Amino acid sequence: MACPCEAPSGNHGREASPSGPEVDGGRWARYLALLMFRVTEVVRFCYGHRLLDYEGPCARIHGHNARVEIEISAPALDRKGFVVDFFDIEKAGKDWILSQFDHHLILREDDPVIPFLKEAGETFVALSVNPSAENFAKLIFDHLRAQGVPVTAVRFYETETAVATYDER
Ligand SMILES: [Zn+2]
Repeated sequence: MACPCEAPSGNHGREASPSGPEVDGGRWARYLALLMFRVTEVVRFCYGHRLLDYEGPCARIHGHNARVEIEISAPALDRKGFVVDFFDIEKAGKDWILSQFDHHLILREDDPVIPFLKEAGETFVALSVNPSAENFAKLIFDHLRAQGVPVTAVRFYETETAVATYDER
């Protein structure tokens, strides 16, 4: 196993110090700045969709069982020992996602099927962008930020093996 002190500076036997610039050109301080606590809220929901301007299976109306991971990071914990209270994420994250998308058909607003759905009295959700995993990830990220949640990443699993991430690094 590698000596832990090799990671930031390789200074065996020397006391590691955050005031590293004079010792190692600031590498230790930069290493410490990368250390973060991360918590993740997982939300699962079912939805239907299809993609426009695309040729492939997702061009047909079909459904997915989505898994969303909402990640929040902080360099230090609060007095409770939390990055964030999961209870607070649930309202802005899980509750909103389920109310907006769960068991709904999500379409781009110019989808030609929309007039037929309206005429038939069927419900749907129209987005200004294609309902792709990438756009879902950004949509959820932007909503959480707008609600004041300090989210740092949203991972959207369209299937167990296809995941899109929108994050801030
Ligand atoms: Zn699909």
